Amino acid sequence: MKDGIRIKVGELKSQFGIVKGLELSIGEIIEEKWEEALGPTPFPSIADLREWDLKILERYKPFYMPFCDLCCLCTMGKCDLTGDKRGACGIDMAGQQSRIVLLACCIGAATHTSHARHLLEHLISKYGRAYPLDVGGLSVEVEAPITRLVCGIRPETLGDLEAVLDYVEEQIVHLLSATHTGQEGAYKDFESKVFHAGMIDHLAMEVADIAQISALGLPKAEPNPPLIEIGLGVVDQAKPVILVVGHNVPPAADIMDYMEELGLQDGIELCGICCTAHDLARYNPKAKIIGPISWQLRFIRSGVPDVIVIDEQCIRSDALVEAMKVKAPLIATSEKDCQGLPDRTRDPPDEVVRDLVEGNTPGVLILDPRKVGEVAVKTALKVAPKRMKFKAIPDVEELIEGAKRCRRCDDCRRSCPNDLDIPSAMARAAQGDVEGLAWLLDQCIGCARCERTCPVGLPIHSFMVKAAEKEIKEERYKIRAGRGAIQDVEIRNVGSPIVLGEIPGVIAFVGCANYPRGGVEVAEMADEFAMRRYIVTATGCAAMSMAMYKDEGGKTIYEKYPGGFDAGGVSNVGSCISNAHIAGAAIKIASIFAKRRLRANYEEIADYILNRVGAVGVAWGAMSQKAASIASGFWRLGIPVIVGPHGSKYRRMLLGRMEDEESWKVYDARTGDKVYVGPTPEHLFYAAETKDEAMVTIAKLCMRPNDTPRGRAIKLTHYIDLHRRLYGVMPDDVYLYVRTKADIPITIKDEVLRLLEEKGWRETVIPDPTLLPRLIRVQKG
Ligand code: SF4
Ligand code: SF4
Ligand code: SF4
Repeated sequence: MKDGIRIKVGELKSQFGIVKGLELSIGEIIEEKWEEALGPTPFPSIADLREWDLKILERYKPFYMPFCDLCCLCTMGKCDLTGDKRGACGIDMAGQQSRIVLLACCIGAATHTSHARHLLEHLISKYGRAYPLDVGGLSVEVEAPITRLVCGIRPETLGDLEAVLDYVEEQIVHLLSATHTGQEGAYKDFESKVFHAGMIDHLAMEVADIAQISALGLPKAEPNPPLIEIGLGVVDQAKPVILVVGHNVPPAADIMDYMEELGLQDGIELCGICCTAHDLARYNPKAKIIGPISWQLRFIRSGVPDVIVIDEQCIRSDALVEAMKVKAPLIATSEKDCQGLPDRTRDPPDEVVRDLVEGNTPGVLILDPRKVGEVAVKTALKVAPKRMKFKAIPDVEELIEGAKRCRRCDDCRRSCPNDLDIPSAMARAAQGDVEGLAWLLDQCIGCARCERTCPVGLPIHSFMVKAAEKEIKEERYKIRAGRGAIQDVEIRNVGSPIVLGEIPGVIAFVGCANYPRGGVEVAEMADEFAMRRYIVTATGCAAMSMAMYKDEGGKTIYEKYPGGFDAGGVSNVGSCISNAHIAGAAIKIASIFAKRRLRANYEEIADYILNRVGAVGVAWGAMSQKAASIASGFWRLGIPVIVGPHGSKYRRMLLGRMEDEESWKVYDARTGDKVYVGPTPEHLFYAAETKDEAMVTIAKLCMRPNDTPRGRAIKLTHYIDLHRRLYGVMPDDVYLYVRTKADIPITIKDEVLRLLEEKGWRETVIPDPTLLPRLIRVQKG
C-alpha cells in the first residue's frame, strides 16, 4: 500500500447517483482476499477508542505518586504544582503526572517502532518486499493478530508491514504533540493517550518480530525449541570471543553467517547480552547467551570478549569507556547509538580491521550489517592473541589492599539504588575475607554508581566480580530458545479451560529483573505458578533470569517444565518484541476459540479479554520506558500488570476500589441487566512491594466475571492457599469473589460459609459479561 495514492470518499453525489464508502487506490492494487467484515475502528486515531478507555478509567482510577512537585518542561517554569496549584500554562498535578507517563510511553513506543523500521528496511533490502510472512506454517493462520485487530488488514508480505509502521509513526507524532505546553490538560485524556501509545507499541513489536521470524527463519511457533547455553561460564575463553549487546539482531546474524562462510563456527565464540542474545540464539542455537542487561559491566570487565559489537537499546552509555579499559575494540552498528565513533561504513573492511587491531582507534561505527560481520570476525581473530584476555578486574591481593583504603564513609551505599551494604563487605575484605563482596554481586545490577561516588576511587563492582569469580565461572545453565508465536491449535486447546477458569491463569513475566534477588524471585514465582498449572510465559531479560537457577535435581525451569502454551508449561516467547505474541495469544483466544470478529474490532475483543481471559503481566524490576509502553498496551486490552518491588517509580497506579459497587457492574449480554460481578480483576496496574505480595495478587487478578463455578473454585483455591501460606491467614475479601455457593472450594467449604455469613453475603448471578451496551442480545423496550 506504500507508494500508492489512496482516495477515500464518504459520500459522492454524481449524475449516476450517490456513491457511499468508495475507496480507490492508485499505484497499487489492493488485493483483498480477507472476507471478514471490517469492524468499526480500522487504523484508529488517538480519539477513536477514547470511549473504551474512559470506561476502563472509570473503574480503574489513576492514583498518582509524584516523584517531584515541580514541572520544568518549558521555559515558563519551573512551576510549583503542589496541592491545588496549577502551572503557568494551567496544568495541575494530575495532568502533569499523566503527561510524564505519556512521554515515557511515547519514548517506549518510538523505540520499538524505530527498531521495527530499521529491521524491516534491512530485511526488505535483503529479501525483497514480496517476501512472504510465515510465523508458524500451517500451525498459525492468524499471523498478525494485533495488526488485524488494530489496522483491519491482513499482512502477507514484508512489504505489507510498511503500511502498519507508517500508521504507527503517524500516531506517535500525534501523541507526542499532545504533551506540548498548552495542548492536552485533562488527566483522563492523557491516560487515554497512554493506552493508545501502548496499543501502538504492541503493533510495532508485532511488526518487528513477525518480520524477523519470517525472513531470518527464527523458531516458528515451536513449543519446544532447542535448549541454549546461558551464563557467564558458558564461553570457551581459549577461543576468540565476540560479544554482541542490544536488541536489533541483523549485525549479530551477519557475524554468525560470516563465521559459517569461513567454517569458523567452532573456532570463535559468539555470545550476547540482552535481547540481541535471545534473537541470535533463535537464529542459530550455536550462539551463547551470557545474561540480562545488568551483566554488561561484569562481563566486559572480565576481559573475556575480544570484540564488542553494540546495536541499539539498553546499552551502557559508557560501553566504549569500559571496552577501552580491557582493550577490546568496539563496533557500533546503529545510527541511534554511535558512541562518538568515526563512521567507517564505506571504508574497505581490511583497512578498518587494521585500525582496530593496531589500536589506531578504540572503535568504529559501521552501519552495514554485512560489513560488521566481516570486520568483527577478522578483528577478533587478530586481536585475541594480542590481548591475552586483558582484564579490568584486580587480583585478590589488589582487592584486599584496596579494601584497606576504604574509609567506611558510606557514600557508595547511599548512591546504590539497591542500598547494598558495601562498607561492611569492604571491612571483611580488608581482613582477607571476600565472601561478603561475592554475596553482594548477586544483589547488584551493575550500574557502577558506587564507584563514581567513592572518594578513594575503589573499583567496587570489579572487586565484587573478582570475589565471586569462582561462582561466575561455574555459571552454566540452559534456556529454551524463544519460541515466537503461539500456535492456533494451542489456543484451541486451552481457550475453553482459560475462559471457563479451569486453567487458573496465564502469567507473563516481562522486563528486566534488575534489583536485589530479582532474578531468583522471578524464577521462584514462575516455578510456583507452573507447579500450580497456570500457563507461564516469559520474554526478554526476565526469561533469561528465570533460567539462571537450578532445582535440587540440578534442573533449570526450562528443563523442568515443557515449553508449550498449556497448563504447567513455561515458554520463553523470545526477546522484548516477542511480547506481541503474548498479547496476540489473548486476542487469538477471543477470535479463534470464541470466534469473535477480529478485524478492526478492538473494543469488543478487549471487552472479551477483560471479562474472560485470566491473564496477568508481571514486570519484576523492569526499568525502561519500553516497560511502560508494553504495560499500557496490555491495559487497553484489559490485561492487568503487576510491577515491583520498585513499582512506585512508575508514578501512578490504576486501582479499582472494591467498595465502589457500581464500578463492578457489567451488562449481562443475555438480558441487558446490570449485574454486580465483584472486583474482577481488582486492579489494572498495581505495585507490589514484595514477591509474596506479588504472588498473592497474581492469583487474585486472574479472576474474571465469566469464570464458571468450577473455574472460580479453582482460582479461589490458589488465592486462598497462597494467602494462607505467605501471610498465615485467610484473605478477608473472599466473600467478594463468591457469587454462588458452587464457587466455594470444596475442601474449605464450611470455613468459607462461616465467613460469608459474617459478611452478610448474598448470592448473585453469573452473567454473560460485557461493558459494551451494543453487545446486549435482547434490547429492552
Ligand atoms: S509546561 Fe506548564 S507547568 Fe510545566 S513548566 Fe511549562 S508552564 Fe509550567
Ligand atoms: S554497581 Fe552494584 S553495588 Fe554499585 S551502586 Fe550499582 S547496584 Fe549498587
Ligand atoms: S565510598 Fe569508597 S571509601 Fe566510602 S565506604 Fe564506599 S568503598 Fe569505602
